[in-house]
Amino acid sequence: MKRERIECALPPDAISALQPFFPAFDLARIRIREGIPRYVIGDPLGYADGDVIYLQRGAYQPDTTQGLALLAHEIAHCQQYERLGKWRFRAEYLRAYGRNRRSGMAHDAAYWQVPFEIEARAIEDLVFETLQEQLTLAPQLVMINSGSLKLYEDA
Ligand SMILES: [Zn+2]
Repeated sequence: MKRERIECALPPDAISALQPFFPAFDLARIRIREGIPRYVIGDPLGYADGDVIYLQRGAYQPDTTQGLALLAHEIAHCQQYERLGKWRFRAEYLRAYGRNRRSGMAHDAAYWQVPFEIEARAIEDLVFETLQEQLTLAPQLVMINSGSLKLYEDA
């Protein structure tokens, strides 16, 4: 029996957290599916095909910083698909991977060094660091605000 795939749009909170990092790309078009297609090489946490993002079971965590950073990585690939068109993106991706393999790299390194992956990881890291910083700053801002409120009340 064929297992039915869940497909959903990004929740509104995830869209508002991630949209600033993708100013020219409407995140409402993204669809999430659970499970990685069988034809994908290796064992990635996520895989993008056009506007569809496939995530390993349990990797979809749109309410954690880590989960949002992973989504940002895959959204970067969705944007690459749009920028080049599906077939050209795939061809250029495979060409870069093949070139790396021929130069002697093992699968993991060859994949790691594909320029599309370097670009996606840069966005992933930026999202992680920015959201993490917001998390540590938010309680401090609350303290500052309630502090000034206290001063106001005392006056
Ligand atoms: Zn990637």
